[in-house]
Amino acid sequence: MRLTGRRESNNIEDRRGKSITNIAGIGGIGGVIIIVLITLLSGGDMGDIVNNVFQQEMQGQVEKSSERNQKAFTEEENKLANFSKQILAGTEDVWSEQFQKHGMHYKYPTLVLYTGSVETSCGNGSAAMGPFYCSADQKLYLDLSFFTSMRRELGIQAKGDLDFAYAYVIAHEVGHHVEYLRGILSKCHTKMAQVDKINANKLSVKLELLADYYAGCWAHYDNEKYQSLSDGDIEEAIDRAEKIGDNYLQEKARGYAQPETFTHGTSAQRAYWFKKGLETGDWNTTTFSSDELD
Ligand SMILES: [Zn+2]
Repeated sequence: MRLTGRRESNNIEDRRGKSITNIAGIGGIGGVIIIVLITLLSGGDMGDIVNNVFQQEMQGQVEKSSERNQKAFTEEENKLANFSKQILAGTEDVWSEQFQKHGMHYKYPTLVLYTGSVETSCGNGSAAMGPFYCSADQKLYLDLSFFTSMRRELGIQAKGDLDFAYAYVIAHEVGHHVEYLRGILSKCHTKMAQVDKINANKLSVKLELLADYYAGCWAHYDNEKYQSLSDGDIEEAIDRAEKIGDNYLQEKARGYAQPETFTHGTSAQRAYWFKKGLETGDWNTTTFSSDELD
């Protein structure tokens, strides 16, 4: 990906080096462990589940953070942090334009960089959950070590720096913010609370695929504005999309997949929607059928 000279976003909260010392809420530690287990089993950008399930319940809890750890960050960490700020700035530019074009205002989300664990308006998050978006505070939460493990996992097949695949991760979470601003996220959560588990999972898949689609739309316009994509970038992101498909992750973890438990979509679906967004950038396309959320 070509990012030379691109601006960095200021909508960043750098909480790296801070850790939560007292975890309260969702039945304390037990609850947090349960969430981590559920999210680990479900795969994908796992922290999304925290948003889906505990979005509203988690406010007003008491947590304490330790003093900021004074340790200096490595060159690699700083590189990843600066990269994330550039990608976020790109999403700000693209989505501001798109919202304006459709008579709406794009309110910038904040990117919180953290290490290990983090407090959010949706409850406590941990690096084990993967990156996630919390609509209650409109912030994206990212532990940069996620990228290092991603590189390890995808490294065998992917070429180059994997940077577009990293960008896709950020753009997907921003995609949830776009869903939130367009009123889709809360409508979907309301619907999910009214139906049984299997149908709630189906709705969750659509929400995730739409975030993949919006990530593709972002790449479409970012490339149009800044010629940011280089050879191999698209394949890299599609490879990444395929490797976070529910079927892929479940088969890898247990040797078989259970489609009724899918919450993020199959490899083929994730790659399909990302590509569709990348090719069209169409604001009106959605993964939901016309009256599904009414
Ligand atoms: Zn997601």
